[in-house]
Amino acid sequence: MSETTNAFEMAQRQFDHVAELLNLDPQVREILRWPMREFHFRIPVRMDDGTIRVFEGFRVQHNDARGPNKGGLRFHPAETFDTVRALATWMTWKCAVADIPLGGGKGGVVVDPATLSDGEKERLVRGYVNVMWRNIGPRQDIPAPDVGTTPQMMGWMMDEYSRLVGQYTPGVITGKPLGGGGSAGRTEATGYGVIFNVREAMKHLGLDPKQCTAAIQGFGNVAQFASIGFIEILGGKVLCVSCWDREDRKSYTFFKADGIDPHFLKSITDQYGTIDKAKAREAGYTIEDGDCWIEKDVDVLIPAALEGQVTGETVKRISPKVKILAEAANGPTTPEADEFLKNSSIFVIPDFLCNSGGVTVSYFEQVQNDMNFYWTKEEVLDKLDTKMTQAFHGVLDMSLEHKAYMRDAAYIVAIARVVKAMQLRGWV
Ligand code: NAD
Repeated sequence: MSETTNAFEMAQRQFDHVAELLNLDPQVREILRWPMREFHFRIPVRMDDGTIRVFEGFRVQHNDARGPNKGGLRFHPAETFDTVRALATWMTWKCAVADIPLGGGKGGVVVDPATLSDGEKERLVRGYVNVMWRNIGPRQDIPAPDVGTTPQMMGWMMDEYSRLVGQYTPGVITGKPLGGGGSAGRTEATGYGVIFNVREAMKHLGLDPKQCTAAIQGFGNVAQFASIGFIEILGGKVLCVSCWDREDRKSYTFFKADGIDPHFLKSITDQYGTIDKAKAREAGYTIEDGDCWIEKDVDVLIPAALEGQVTGETVKRISPKVKILAEAANGPTTPEADEFLKNSSIFVIPDFLCNSGGVTVSYFEQVQNDMNFYWTKEEVLDKLDTKMTQAFHGVLDMSLEHKAYMRDAAYIVAIARVVKAMQLRGWV
């Protein structure tokens, strides 16, 4: 099999593999291999200097058999249609594996948000809603924040949608700011969800979390709360995190042998997840090459940055001490690396199970919007813990019962639920 980092090819290969295992009907396969609807458009935006800039945008709705499509909106300079297609497909499996009644969607805009002023960002997201509003909505497709987008942007998008449809509609979008229809606990949700999965994996493997160490790639929303959770919920140590330095245009690893302080690092990190090197160095951190996180002698590796990071080449650099690979990012492992992991002793928590905490609390946000009654952060995180623990054990049981690799087991659980919904609706 040739090496690929095309995310959609990866998503299709993973699906084909499990479709084969499940001996899925060819017609069902044909439906599930492809997104049901795809939108590709241009958004003209008036910039602060008076000129017009045209941005390329995407929205992909993969499958809504189990409920309205759900998935983030990414702002990234290297965004592609195939990345958005892959992420929408993974959202279908993610919602199904977490057993929440939603389908899979994803959106993207080709832009580096750091190059835009707040006013330009607001006009761009309002422009996105102006193009898409007839095809999104609480019963159709519900966007959310993702790489490069923020709760404030979701607030503007909700306002634009409400203006266009003529009524306050908070359930059109999740990840809104607190006080503007957002849910307590959404900021922590994905990172803490990763940690609830890691905790259950440690129980299964008989590991004492207090004796465990971790190396994390990235230091954005997910990595920050995965670091905090690893230390404060599990009682373990995080030895390094990494980030992309936008000035140097390269990545760095920030290492401390006796464990990083995520709250301190957070205080010297900008809104795009770039850590201030000078301040970190002053505080005793060793700054190493961006790839070093994967070689650390730790118990748990948590890629929490971007897709395609654990490749056929980098996977061979993983230390024999590593027991768990918790895929916090979407699609961090290429199929070639996956083959290697399958035959190794490393316990893999596959991405769409591992990072499903975010969409789970997004779903809770919509439920609260519908009720117009809001839970406390403790209530939200408690419900999240219950959902994540159930999802993890659903997959683990499938894996043990069928002697299946954890990723295959997660796909089997998810695909079976989607196929059942399609059958019940009379689609197949
Ligand atoms: P973010 O934009 O907040 O942070 C990304 C981080 O990764 C930043 O610190 C950035 O500097 C770093 N990074 C980028 N390229 C890197 C590289 N080559 N090496 C090292 N670090 C690098 O994004 P996020 O919201 O934390 O999302 C991270 C991943 O988790 C993405 O794959 C995203 O799709 C996935 N995810 C996010 C959520 C969520 O709720 N935010 C939910 C599910 C999945």
